[in-house]
Parts: sequence; C-alpha cells; structure tokens
Amino acid sequence: MPGLLVAEDGGWRSLHGDWRPDAAAAALLARGEALLFLPGADGEPARKALRLSAAGAPAVYLVLKADRARVLAPYADLQAQILALSLLVALLAMLAALLLGRRVSGPVDQLAEAARRVRAGDYAAPLAVGGSNEFAALAAAFNAMQQGIAEREQRIVHQVGHDGLTGLPNRERALSLLAIRLADPALRRGALALLDLRRFREVNDLLGHAHGDRALVGLAERLRGLRSGDDLVARLGGDEFLVGFWGSDAAQATARAEALVVALSAPMDLDGAPLRVDIDLGLVPFIRGSNGPLPDARTLLRRAEIALALAKREGRSPMPYREGLDEQHLRQLAIVGELRGAIESEQFQLAYQPKVGIADGAVHHVEALLRWTHPRLGRIGPDEFIPLAERAGLVGRLTRWVAARACADLAGWRAQGVEVGVAINLSAIDLADPGLGAMLLDAAAHHGVPAGLLIAEVTESAVLADLGTAVATLQGLRVQGLRVSIDDFGTGQSSLAQLKRLPADELKIDKSFVLPLAPGSDDEHIVESIVRLGHALGLRVVAEGVETAEGLDVLRRLGCDVAQGYHFSRPLAVEALLPWLRAHATGPAGAAA
Ligand code: C2E
Ligand code: CA
Ligand code: CA
Repeated sequence: MPGLLVAEDGGWRSLHGDWRPDAAAAALLARGEALLFLPGADGEPARKALRLSAAGAPAVYLVLKADRARVLAPYADLQAQILALSLLVALLAMLAALLLGRRVSGPVDQLAEAARRVRAGDYAAPLAVGGSNEFAALAAAFNAMQQGIAEREQRIVHQVGHDGLTGLPNRERALSLLAIRLADPALRRGALALLDLRRFREVNDLLGHAHGDRALVGLAERLRGLRSGDDLVARLGGDEFLVGFWGSDAAQATARAEALVVALSAPMDLDGAPLRVDIDLGLVPFIRGSNGPLPDARTLLRRAEIALALAKREGRSPMPYREGLDEQHLRQLAIVGELRGAIESEQFQLAYQPKVGIADGAVHHVEALLRWTHPRLGRIGPDEFIPLAERAGLVGRLTRWVAARACADLAGWRAQGVEVGVAINLSAIDLADPGLGAMLLDAAAHHGVPAGLLIAEVTESAVLADLGTAVATLQGLRVQGLRVSIDDFGTGQSSLAQLKRLPADELKIDKSFVLPLAPGSDDEHIVESIVRLGHALGLRVVAEGVETAEGLDVLRRLGCDVAQGYHFSRPLAVEALLPWLRAHATGPAGAAA
C-alpha cells in the first residue's frame, strides 16, 4: 500500500499507510530530491519515494514499493554489455597470444633442435633462421658458437691423437691407424719398422733437452720426407718412431728400412753443432696367408719391439723379426720375473764338475755350476738365465748364493776328509762390485774354509769389458788369498799387452778349441800356442770340454796341465761328487779320500 510522508519537526510523519522510514531511509529522504530510491533493509522490499511538494515547501513524499527488477533493469543491460565486451576482449587476447606464440615457438623449437644436434656431436649443419629480428641474431650467434665448438673439438681430437713436439700421430693413434689398416681385406702384405736413436739419453744429457727436442723434430721431418704414399709415420714416445709400409714384400721392406737407416743416420745440424745420430731399427714384415687374418696391431708392435731390442743387442740394423723370437721373449720375461723369488725359494742347486790333473789324474778342484729347476719351465740352463740375471741386476745375489752354497759344501767335504778346491764363476758385473772380495771372504770365513781353496773364474771377455776395474778387483782377490782363472780363453781377443797385466793363476782354454781337438788340426795349433803362452806367463793351463781320450792325448802331448769335460765326468749333483772323487782318486796328489 502506498504511503504518504510529511516532513515535520526534523522527522517524518506518516499520513497514510503503515510504513515508517528507518534511519538510513530518513537520511536519504532528508536530501529532498524529487525521486529517491530507498533500498530495503532486513528483508524489507525496496521503495521509491516521489516528492509531491514544491522545492522550498515542507517535503511531502509518496512512498511506493519499488519493483526491483524494473529498478535494476537499466543496470542489467549495462552488466550484459560489460560481460559481452569482456568475453570479446578475452577471446581476442587468446587469439593474439596464439598467433604470437606461433611466431615465437617456431624459431625456439629450431634452436632447441639444433642444440640437441650439437650435443650429439653434429656440428655440420648451420641453423637457418631468416629475417632481421632477434631470432635471426640469436641464430647467427648460435652458428658462431657451433663453429667454435667444432674447431675446438677438432683441435682436442688432434692433440689427443698426436704428439705435441713433432705433430706426428702418437702411440694410441698409431695403434688405431694400424688396426684399421690391418682390418682392410685389400691389404695383403706390408712391414712395420720400429726405430730409435742410439744413446739418445747422452744427447739429452750432453746437449740439453732443448737440443734433444730439436733432434727429435729433425728426425720427424726426415721421416716425413721419406714417407712414400700413405705410409704410417708415428712417434710412439721418447726417441721411438714407427713406420708402416703397406704393400711391400719382405725384400722391399728390408730395402726401404735400410734406406731409412742410412738417411736418418746422416749428421744433423743443431744450431751449428753437428750431431751424428745412430739408428737402431727392428723390422717386422707381415703377409696375409691363404687361411688366416693378419696379426693384430699389438702383436705386430710387440714383435717390432723385440726385433728392435735384438738390433740394439747385436748392433745390426735393420734387424728382421724372426719366427719364435716372440715366444723366446715371453719366456725371458717369465724367467726375469721369477728369478728373485727362485733365489728365495731355493730352486737353485749347484752341480760340481771335476778339473783333473793330466799328468797324475788328481782332482785339485771342482767347478761349481749353477742349476735352476723351475717348477713350471723345468730345468733352465745358466747360459740362458745368467745373462737375464745380469740385465735384471740380480746376478750379484746369485753369486752370493753360489759362494755361500759352495763354501758350505766345501766345509762338508773337508769334514769328511776330502780336501778339494772349488771354482766359482763370476760375471762381468761382479767384477765391478767393490764388495765382491769381502763377500767371498765372508762366505769362506762363515764356513771355516780357507780362502785359498776358492778360485774365481772370470771370462776373458768380462775382463776386457772394463780392464782397469777387472785388474784392480782380481788383484784384490789374489791379495786376499783367492786364486783367479781366466775362463773361455781364446774367444775374447785380448792382446799380449793386456794379458801381461792380468793378475791370474790359470788360463782356461775355451771348449770351442778343445771339443774338435784332433791330431794335426788347426785347433791343435791354437791350443798348443795358448799352452805355451800360458806357461810363458807362469800360468797353469786348463782345457775345458774334453770329451774324448783322443783329445786328452793331444792335450797331454801339448803339455796342458789340467783337463775338464765329459770324458771324466759331467757336472755332478752334490751327493754324487764324493763317491765319484773316491772312485777316481789316484796318484799322490789326488783328492784324498
Ligand atoms: P763355463 O764356465 O764355461 O762352464 C762350462 C760349461 O761347459 C758348463 O755348462 C759345463 O756343463 C759345460 N761342459 C763341461 N764339460 C763339457 C764337455 O765335455 N762338453 C760340452 N759340450 N760341454 C761341457 P753349463 O753348466 O751349462 O754352464 C754354462 C755357463 O754358464 C758357464 O760356462 C758359465 O759361464 C755360466 N755359469 C754357470 N754357473 C754359473 C754361476 O754360478 N755364475 C755365473 N756367473 N755363471 C755361471
Ligand atoms: Ca767356468
Ligand atoms: Ca768356459
């Protein structure tokens, strides 16, 4: 129901109807506007108030219930318009983002793909992003980076595979190049030459490392100059170079290796200082048999190393690899590796071979000969392991063991009433040991044996290797009461002047002259002159390798003093010696039993 409100005494009086304005509505009415909208509070419907009275006159308002929907109608339209507009804007924004995203994500995807390629190591294809925008600039930077990485990688790969000094392929690279070559079925034959400079250490020590490096660079240049076709030329390290000739047969390879040795040995000019280089070269020709593949790279290289070692030892280059050298080399490695342990685990024994007086048949001495029974390789002869022990620096320990064992045996024989001297073989290396005399005396003293019962056998060539030292050492031994025998005499080519200087008691004619000894032979004349020479120098003369009665007769006729050999006895195990001595004791000066 409509109500009529009249302003009165600062408030509102209702003339009609039961609606009274609350405080908020009263405040609105107080504004006095022509049309007012009064929102309903506490669930009351909203109302509109229409001013009936003129402005200035006391306010009279007709209050009607307002229809909310109608009241809000103009706003609803506005609301719909705003909503439609927002939707449109959002739609447009999405569309724009999509379009923009297309334009951005295309080049980004390309960049990501290119980065994946680079990560996988493919630097070949440059990234093509056209235009002049930021993406084109980014692509250009990316391409530059890609090229930089490629160049750096190439440099690193080269450095890893090449030797920094000479620029030649290094050991690893050479091995892989070699392996690639050997795997090529078209390669039927070829050869590997391994070479190095003799005494390169001295060049370094004498001229300095800078000159040593210059020499290596010079050598590398010569090798490059001598390369023919696609020969492999590499520096394996130090002064060691490898050359691979492909396709050449053994004769051609030898000829080429000879040419290498000659050309590389030509004097070099190192800043005005001429340097003569000597080349050692080992050569391994290889050929594809009808039924087998070529040897692998490492096998070939090992064989080349073996041939080179042989070239050095024998002073002959080019030294071809021979069948079987490999096995021999492996055996030598095993022997050297096990020598030390063998001394400790008592794998050695001494055999004793009598030295018999030719005139009276008496045995004054026995020679101690070293025997090694290897648990796997069986018996190994001293001719094989002594040179290896010398090279491995172990021969001194062997000599000490022999001296101790021989003195112990000697003491045992003496205890049983047998007085016989023992000859011990010394190596050239022992002669350079200043402690040798003391060691031998200690061994003798330890077993209560007189030093005079010991004879040191040293080969003529060992003495000549360092005459001054040998003379001093041997003199020292003699002063201490030991006797000295020059072994293998006749093979060392000592001069009469050298012979005169030798502090010796005995000359032992090498068995190579004695074995073939027959009346009227050349050897008879050689033996005869050695006997005379020995006697002229006041030495006792011994012949070793006496195998026959006929040979013994010749020696007796020539006046030789002592004989040793299978004719009398092979070297005997220690327990067999005393029975032998007892059985053969003859004459007044014989081994007393
Ligand atoms: P060597 O000192 O000239 O010893 C003589 C060698 O000739 C011995 O060989 C001996 O068994 C052998 N022999 C003896 N009589 C005859 C014979 O009638 N006919 C033939 N064909 N051979 C005979 P072995 O025992 O094999 O010793 C070889 C070499 O090994 C020795 O030659 C010696 O140089 C060295 N050696 C042996 N024992 C030692 C040692 O304890 N120390 C050192 N440093 N070298 C040793
Ligand atoms: Ca000897
Ligand atoms: Ca000998």
